[in-house]
Amino acid sequence: MLPKGANLQKIRNGNKTYAVTPHLPGGFVKPDVLENYAYVARKYGGTLKLTSAQRIMITGLKAEDIDGVWADLDMQPAMGFANCVRSVKVCPGNAFCKRGKQDSVKLGLELDRRYIKKEMPSRMKLGVSGCPNSCAEAIIKDIGVIGTDEGWDVYVGGSAGSHPRLGDKLITGLDYDDTLRIIDIIVGYYKKNADIERIGQFIDRIGFAKFRGDVLAAFNNPSAATVQTRQNPPAEPERPVTWAAAEGKLVSGEAIAADSVIADIIRVYPQTIPVLRGFGMGCLGCPSATGEALKKAADIHGINVDELVESLNKVTVGGEVQ
Ligand code: SF4
Repeated sequence: MLPKGANLQKIRNGNKTYAVTPHLPGGFVKPDVLENYAYVARKYGGTLKLTSAQRIMITGLKAEDIDGVWADLDMQPAMGFANCVRSVKVCPGNAFCKRGKQDSVKLGLELDRRYIKKEMPSRMKLGVSGCPNSCAEAIIKDIGVIGTDEGWDVYVGGSAGSHPRLGDKLITGLDYDDTLRIIDIIVGYYKKNADIERIGQFIDRIGFAKFRGDVLAAFNNPSAATVQTRQNPPAEPERPVTWAAAEGKLVSGEAIAADSVIADIIRVYPQTIPVLRGFGMGCLGCPSATGEALKKAADIHGINVDELVESLNKVTVGGEVQ
């Protein structure tokens, strides 16, 4: 069982070490909090590591120390579970940077307050940059916002990692309130219509013209129920999804095995998702993770693959072990 609020980091010679990552909205940290980080890391023999999401992780921790670490930190974990809003990266903007065109700190902190840890179809990252230099890497975030002289430009569908994708420019020149409003529409549309897929994958499946048309229709006519749902499917022909919906070896009625690919399992047996999450395998929106065989993923997470296979097969067809 994973210690609460911790991630498994390494397994060396059968010994597991864990990391904790407290939430630091906007990447801001007060001096006394920073001093406490150092105190806690020293007390429990941890190592401090700056993360790409503007946080400070303490890694190299023992399972039995995790509760004490959180009690001493007196902070909240940055992430709730895998498929949620995981981070809002914020540049200094015109509050602190001479090049800033817009107040990215104000907008970023408000987005953090509204969305951080909110459940989504897949993981979601946001980025807010105060000018086109885009130091918060907004163009490779699921939702990215970039300040210009005219206001805020909004991008959707960006991601980095092993399947990088540049965001599509959705709309330009919005003021603060309209930027928040369109992001709310984007999030609602995505939650209502997407499968377990990042926004970029969702856009590639339904087409950007369809996505943009529906979102802007709702934005321009807020009183009308113009955002389409699953009951009102896209008019454009669907493009093949590159991972989860792709054809695999596993077919319905077949037993799940240690060498079954996770994407196949959740495509054929979506009812297994809670089981996978229950074993601590929350990366179900990640193309890399879902492209792995169950055994490899179980090894990475330190899970007994035989127990996992047995539990998964209990919730497949008819609720019986196949
Ligand atoms: S994106 Fe622009 S405003 Fe933000 S830190 Fe970079 S240069 Fe400054």
